[in-house]
Amino acid sequence: MATVVCLIANRATMPLTEHLVERARRALPESEIEWLAREEACELGPIEIEPATAQRAVRNALDDAPVDVCALPFEGRRKRLLLADMDSTILQVECIDELADVLGIGERIAAITERTMNGELDFAQALAERVALLAGLGVAQVDAVAETRTPLTPGARTLVQTMRAHGAHTVLVSGGFTLFTERVRARVGFDADEANTLEIADGRLTGKVVPPVLDRHAKAQSLARHATELSLSSDATLALGDGANDIAMLQAAGMGVAFRAHQTVRAAVPLRLDVADLTGVLFLQGYRRDEFAAD
Ligand SMILES: [Mg+2]
Repeated sequence: MATVVCLIANRATMPLTEHLVERARRALPESEIEWLAREEACELGPIEIEPATAQRAVRNALDDAPVDVCALPFEGRRKRLLLADMDSTILQVECIDELADVLGIGERIAAITERTMNGELDFAQALAERVALLAGLGVAQVDAVAETRTPLTPGARTLVQTMRAHGAHTVLVSGGFTLFTERVRARVGFDADEANTLEIADGRLTGKVVPPVLDRHAKAQSLARHATELSLSSDATLALGDGANDIAMLQAAGMGVAFRAHQTVRAAVPLRLDVADLTGVLFLQGYRRDEFAAD
């Protein structure tokens, strides 16, 4: 199997130097260097070696250098379907934690969120518990949080716009809430969004989710459904997320990327981006920076 190893640094904090790249290349005899973005991203290969072996060899050669190292099959890297998680992936925050903060119960809810996303609590039960604590919050307050406290992760728009420009279908999937995903879909330019609907009565949250609840199985099921609708094999799909409820989707996708992910997710998924922003997901697909859509 022909493999490439993608190296991605964060140019703002520590550029990818030729010295580092040469160190990596020596771990993969006979590989060639192909730069995707100066001082930021390159790939080594293609060479006949298993991805896991190549990734380990290069990671070891770079010690703890702040560089993402991802080995992938050389062929078929440009994906036709993207499913991306919202909270702490496309957005820099967890929306439910921001809502709780407005209510003055931020720490209480954030602790549950953290344990849920690390897989320590049942997703559906933890969601119900946290939503119940939001009862009484006005929809106008939710709208204000959605407008002012949901910063995008750098690279989000470029990722989605570039994949769309190359014919991919892009879906925002969230165990969070449609009050947020609908806005984020529009801001980033996704084709579609899927999330839980918060029940509203008299302009206030009732503290309940309208069934059916999107649980930890929902995202993998959504990936399969969209692939079938588009007549795509799973090889042509890409999934992106950071939390325990993303693991099944990440493992089912042709390319599953754990983005600045919780420990349980990092252990379950071979491809990880810890240093790069979301444009790293384009480099993994072999896009050069000069092919990116304008933000
Ligand atoms: Mg998340």
